[in-house]
Amino acid sequence: MFLEDRDTFQFEWDHLGNIELGRPNLGNTTSVAIYRLMQYTLRDSAIRHTDVETAVKIFYDAGYTSGKAIYENLIQSASDVNDLISKLQNLLKTLNIGILRMEKCDLQNMAFTLTVEEDLDCSGLPMHDEAICVFDEGLIAGVLDTFTGMAFEVKEVDCWCTGERICRFEAIKVE
Ligand SMILES: [Zn+2]
Repeated sequence: MFLEDRDTFQFEWDHLGNIELGRPNLGNTTSVAIYRLMQYTLRDSAIRHTDVETAVKIFYDAGYTSGKAIYENLIQSASDVNDLISKLQNLLKTLNIGILRMEKCDLQNMAFTLTVEEDLDCSGLPMHDEAICVFDEGLIAGVLDTFTGMAFEVKEVDCWCTGERICRFEAIKVE
């Protein structure tokens, strides 16, 4: 289930297990530092064993699969893109992932600019002039693609780590 070779993504929501059953005393939350410990050591390891380009692809893909799963399991339906972003905004707030806002909404060209404040992945990190929220790029693309049936490319153009103190993502429909 978890350790077979595969050519396609096989993640399913129930792979996350029954947390209520499994953690009756410790519950459903942990600390941000421990979440980041997992993410940044995994990134370190992925780069060490492959290369930066491949590691970035792995994180984008993982974010994409997560975004798809989040839409299918936690959002499920939306009347239009504004409703979708509003539902995603509530979800990210409820889950303490970040404070999402839609900064630009060009429905004619299906081009959107989204910002995330207090981002789970990067807010408070040392500055390195690198936009590092690749997982989030994939996640936003996964949510948008699954809802619209179109293909979006998402790029983080500003990040806490570039000195902006906010993450800004541009999402553009690709042909
Ligand atoms: Zn960022």
